[in-house]
Amino acid sequence: MAAFDLIVIGAGIVGTACAELAVREGLRVAVVESGAVGGGATAAAMGHLVAMDDDPAELALSRYSLGLWERFASLPEAEFSRCGTLWVAREDSEFASVAAKIARLAAAGVQARRIEADELYRLEPALAAGLRGGMLVADEAVVYPPRVALHLLGLAREGGASCLLGRRAIGLSADGVRLDDGSSLIGPVLVATGCALPELLPRLPMRSRKGHLVITERYPGRVHHQLLELGYADSAHGDADSSVAFNVQPRPTGQILIGSSREFGVDDRDVSPAMLRRMLERAFAFVPMLRELQALRVWTGFRPTTFDGRPYIGAVAERAHTWVAAGHEGLGVTTALGTARLLIDQMLGRAPAIDPAPFLPARALQ
Ligand SMILES: Cc1cc2nc3c(=O)[nH]c(=O)nc-3n(C[C@H](O)[C@H](O)[C@H](O)COP(=O)(O)OP(=O)(O)OC[C@H]3O[C@@H](n4cnc5c(N)ncnc54)[C@H](O)[C@@H]3O)c2cc1C
Repeated sequence: MAAFDLIVIGAGIVGTACAELAVREGLRVAVVESGAVGGGATAAAMGHLVAMDDDPAELALSRYSLGLWERFASLPEAEFSRCGTLWVAREDSEFASVAAKIARLAAAGVQARRIEADELYRLEPALAAGLRGGMLVADEAVVYPPRVALHLLGLAREGGASCLLGRRAIGLSADGVRLDDGSSLIGPVLVATGCALPELLPRLPMRSRKGHLVITERYPGRVHHQLLELGYADSAHGDADSSVAFNVQPRPTGQILIGSSREFGVDDRDVSPAMLRRMLERAFAFVPMLRELQALRVWTGFRPTTFDGRPYIGAVAERAHTWVAAGHEGLGVTTALGTARLLIDQMLGRAPAIDPAPFLPARALQ
């Protein structure tokens, strides 16, 4: 039976980030992935690297992680594009909230500035008339997550990691993990299986939150920034069974990626025409010209969502030598690199750069 210092189960953006860092730290690593590398939630994501200000702990993790993403700013595979995030206010009340948002972001080290309506239209002429203004976070970027996951796994492999692709972990054992071909691996285990987490760790609750995205043909120069409505966090982090929010991204190819929807309690991958229409109408209300563009593809994906909206990152208190990094909901691309650092520092007994307490899985067991 093969023995390792760390067996990473799941090769999404989170698992591959952890595997790559563990290898850099000199650990003997195995990665087990049952499907395509980066083919889970990671393949469905928009790839927006963004700091949200509504939860201080997640903001700290995002800020930390955004700094680590700079390492990939010029990597061709990452398709990193520093388009900035432009948050748009439709209502006076939303615009009035900008000062407090800027202050919260600044306290965490993220620079943002208020945008008056005239500048808003200079920056994005395609926006609908009558918007109040907004907030610009100029340093933020977008990436192409599945290719980054592949790249990270490639780095891990070059550093000596064993990759067991097409192999499913079917259970944790006292000293490692059992695979679907009857074999076992020995060593500490990191469960990074996203939505599938309860299959291996049933006591950690996880819900899947379905999302739709649309990508258009190439229309270079129509949209310049990642655009979101200022009310986005209410949709993203609220508990409503279904919601949509204006969220539009210019891809480096000139294509335009249009989101986003959120639904609990829907397990099938089918595109819902009703939800799609609702999402698109929201986008058209902010950028009317989108209505004229040709869509190329529509897809759905599932965000791994914990009971309190924060990912589980750390040791599984009730099982020796078992770690978890899962449940990043709609911010897993942004926070993957910070998650890896936070986790591996804990594993190696080092003081992490940010407080790990809000993310410890033990909170789900109380
Ligand atoms: C529509 C949508 C838009 C999003 N947009 C953004 C965004 O703009 N910015 C952002 O930061 N985040 C975004 N996200 C969130 C982000 O995609 C996720 O948080 C992130 O991809 C989670 O990564 P993961 O590695 O934990 O999970 P996954 O990518 O799902 O990876 C888990 C892997 O584990 C494997 N696996 C599961 N069980 C087993 C097993 N038993 N044995 C072996 N392998 C197993 C799966 O095959 C899978 O490959 C979005 C998500 C969606 C759905």
